[in-house]
Amino acid sequence: MEQISKSYGARKAVDGVSFKVQRGQTVGLIGPNGAGKSTTVGMICGLLRADGGRITLDGDVIGQGASAAKRKIGFVPQDLALYDDLSALENLKLFGALYGLSGAQLKERCTQALALVNLTDRAADAPASFSGGMKRRLNIAAALLHDPQLLILDEPTVGVDPQSRNAIFDTLEALQAQGRSLIYTSHYMEEVERLADHIVIIDHGKVLADETPAALYQRLPAQAALQVELAGEAPAALLSALQALDGVTGVERTEATLNIGLAASEHAAPVLAWLNGQGHALLHFSTARTSLENIFLNLTGRSLRD
Ligand code: ADP
Repeated sequence: MEQISKSYGARKAVDGVSFKVQRGQTVGLIGPNGAGKSTTVGMICGLLRADGGRITLDGDVIGQGASAAKRKIGFVPQDLALYDDLSALENLKLFGALYGLSGAQLKERCTQALALVNLTDRAADAPASFSGGMKRRLNIAAALLHDPQLLILDEPTVGVDPQSRNAIFDTLEALQAQGRSLIYTSHYMEEVERLADHIVIIDHGKVLADETPAALYQRLPAQAALQVELAGEAPAALLSALQALDGVTGVERTEATLNIGLAASEHAAPVLAWLNGQGHALLHFSTARTSLENIFLNLTGRSLRD
């Protein structure tokens, strides 16, 4: 998509967004609530009309009305659309019929989709008896019946417990293994990081970053963090000396604890040795890889979630 824009009245919800999804790749579209994620995916599916810009799939423009390009897209909206008084299988048959499937092909696609989302043994049960995560998986199955090349999921884990979240990830990984392209919106960096080949960060309708997870990590000043608890409060002179050490990107102090940002985890051992050499007894220390969650803070000065 190139330079896509969309306003609601005077409010610019999407402001010149461009990114590409390579065939077989997963793009994670991440941003806080109100960033413009749903509006963006709504335009890709052709559900919303863009004010400006161009969206193409395999060279065909996606616009209003039915088109061959749109048939290559499956959409899993945030709001679930299931009939509680029909069984899971009957729900799928209904969706399949809407896509023009019938007979043996409809039956086969429903069976395949139920197996992929791991709901085969619940085919005869009504979604009313399903957990939030199972309903979400049934919705994913419904979006797959016409065998789309690109599947778009709008915040598929909202309101889903951690165990069901993992079941959704398993389903998405199975889709990746089939070579499908995915666009996945979320405001959870760790989810997108797990699945995405490429991460597009948007805020206020604009793209702030469009990179691989590894490249995003490179943009974080600290790749690792070292937390050290000293026997007594650290003197200010110690902080500035630490700051000047090779590989140290930043130092913060809260009472007897030092939080030391490191350019790479290999710097942890020499920094600890140096502290020992300065005569400071260490009560406790721990190291951690910095989280990509910090990239949003770095780019905007705000957290991804309040
Ligand atoms: P996200 O999916 O990232 O939470 P949205 O695309 O839903 O963001 O919303 C982007 C902006 O557009 C927000 O400021 C939101 O309030 C506004 N918006 C979304 N849908 C509508 C609508 N139907 N009418 C008016 N404003 C809307």
